[in-house]
Amino acid sequence: MSADLVVRGGTVVDSAWEGPADVLVSDGVVAALLARGTPVDPDVPVVDARGRLVLPGGVDPHCHVGFTSGEYTSLDDHRECTTAAVFGGTTTIVDFAIPRPGQRPLDVARAQRAKIPAGLCDAALHGCVVEWDDTTADQLRVLADEGVRTIKMFTTYRGESMADESTILRTMAALRDLGGMVVVHCEADHIIVDSQEHAAGVDRIGAGDMPATRPELAETASVAEVLAIAESQRTPVYFVHQSTAAAVELVAAARRRGLRAYTETVAHHLLLDESSYAGPEPERFVCCPPLRARESVEALTRHLFTGEISTIGSDHCCYDTAQKREHRHDVRQMPNGLPGVETRLATVFSEFVVGRGLSLTRFVELTAANPARANGLYPRKGSLMPGADADIAIWDPRLAWTVTAAQLHQATDYTPYEGRRLTGRPTTVVVGGRVVVDEGELVDGTARGRYVPAGDIPAGPVQ
Ligand SMILES: [Zn+2]
Repeated sequence: MSADLVVRGGTVVDSAWEGPADVLVSDGVVAALLARGTPVDPDVPVVDARGRLVLPGGVDPHCHVGFTSGEYTSLDDHRECTTAAVFGGTTTIVDFAIPRPGQRPLDVARAQRAKIPAGLCDAALHGCVVEWDDTTADQLRVLADEGVRTIKMFTTYRGESMADESTILRTMAALRDLGGMVVVHCEADHIIVDSQEHAAGVDRIGAGDMPATRPELAETASVAEVLAIAESQRTPVYFVHQSTAAAVELVAAARRRGLRAYTETVAHHLLLDESSYAGPEPERFVCCPPLRARESVEALTRHLFTGEISTIGSDHCCYDTAQKREHRHDVRQMPNGLPGVETRLATVFSEFVVGRGLSLTRFVELTAANPARANGLYPRKGSLMPGADADIAIWDPRLAWTVTAAQLHQATDYTPYEGRRLTGRPTTVVVGGRVVVDEGELVDGTARGRYVPAGDIPAGPVQ
């Protein structure tokens, strides 16, 4: 049998199956899963996976590349972001095209899409609607035709990216007929503004005061409102970075009523808590929603095991320490977001698979298969079944290592996980059938990023 590559001797883990198998790659896609040791042409290059797991490359459903918000732009471009992604075992990112005031969603999406070929791996794109006008429905139709079917909306950041409720309703109604879905950042802006005003009035508006400026109630209130809009329109809806168990449970209850509603969590809400704001550099942890109290984090993580969380993203935003520090005395002027595209898989694997017994198949489901399904990319992405793109993370489940920014590839000078001891990481990463990272070294830096258009959403059941 001829082929480009065979990954031999490992344990393949897909979202619904795991077992010993060799992965035969031909023309950039998985050609077959073979019984271990099945003979192949001796000229076919072999990737030795003995003692290792063979996972579909991670799909990061929430990754901001070179994102401008307020006065700040995050520091990476597609090449830098995808380099970090690939080193971390992620081989598909879903980036955002978020209009600045006055920009058209379609123009911004096309401009952001044009940057994808500079990447080391493939990327898909979320569009974004902020304001509804008489061109928006047509723009959404063109976006869907061009493979942008997930539309980000915000219920906070008034005057910047916030959309009002009727805009959310109209966008959902338009997407219903286009095989698309709204993906929404829910924090009720009026509650946040009030909380921030109170905090500022008592001079407690710095980075260390972050939790009180964005209370859990703001998230729950907004999720309830947006769920009601989705139910009224009978459209699917996906909630990004849900950070509280109460918000997750609202979505789960709607799903039980028959709504196609999905919860995304992001790694830092599962792995860090608000004690980070009491440390010496609280600004490094400023993100929205903020890191929550320990008991809230524990309640949230329980839903990883109950199945009520659909996906885990990174919400990667690559700001550096200087950007985070500049306005640390007033969170209203700070850049929000944490770098994390490279550490998403390893932190979650170590904490929940090694540490708490999450199954390998559920790990793949949360970090690759379901993100691909929810974004209309499955089974091309997020799977190792024959026909899928040959994006493969060969993973050493026992390798112990310490996270340090100096050894990561993200275009920033810090990581919120500095000094954390982890078990497990990718050692070799294959993108489109080519070995890009081998034993922790970049061996092929060719820019081969392809734009992956989304099909109907969601593609297949998302648990
Ligand atoms: Zn985000």
